[in-house]
Amino acid sequence: MTKIIENLARIEPKIAAVNPQQPVTIIAVTKAVSVERTQEAIAAGVTHLGENRPEGLLRKQEAINEATWHYIGTLQTRKVRQIINTIDYLHSLDRMSLAEEINKRATKVVKCFVQVNVSEEDSKHGLPVSEVIPFIKKLADMDKIEVVGLMTMAPLHAQEHEIRTVFRGLKDVQQQIKALQLPYAPCTELSMGMSNDYVIAIEEGATYVRIGTALVGSESEGMQ
Ligand SMILES: *Cc1c(COP(=O)(O)O)cnc(C)c1O
Repeated sequence: MTKIIENLARIEPKIAAVNPQQPVTIIAVTKAVSVERTQEAIAAGVTHLGENRPEGLLRKQEAINEATWHYIGTLQTRKVRQIINTIDYLHSLDRMSLAEEINKRATKVVKCFVQVNVSEEDSKHGLPVSEVIPFIKKLADMDKIEVVGLMTMAPLHAQEHEIRTVFRGLKDVQQQIKALQLPYAPCTELSMGMSNDYVIAIEEGATYVRIGTALVGSESEGMQ
């Protein structure tokens, strides 16, 4: 596999070229790589790590203590207590039962992205666009939840214009929520863009990109 430091040296200028003024945080998605490869990412200067299974997250956390942790996968309600106080950001808040469990188990405020299924593909998790604002309004009394932004995934094998439409759709709802000025939902951030579409995502306003394959690669020994 290519060295992570070389991958980063390819990715960072592409990000900066879109708009050097726009702050973009790279989350290295390490779900498909080993602890050793994750440590290589840290050594290369990566500080934000993303995992999508509780087991993988906890295994990486045991070995690495100097990272900002993002949980990017579907989170089963019964697994909330295992991880909620070990993460810095949750990218997959998509239902009231999950919000209630987080509010019950968290010992501090959890920064959450509400996951939106902009493309409305059946296979994807997340709320349809029309339900996002009503959902966020219902979070008002949950003092452990802060909605920092919205997250989406573009369709995998789509044309560039379709991907762009999805990212634009997410930004549009994000702006609407931000304008509501809800104290618990500043909603200033957009988590969108992966290995194949992060440049498009940043062009459309992403502030967090979640990059796995293009940055750390994937290897079978890292899988659970
Ligand atoms: C795996 C994953 C990524 C990273 O995907 P790559 O295509 O490998 O960059 C980003 N976001 C989510 C939610 C993922 O599950």
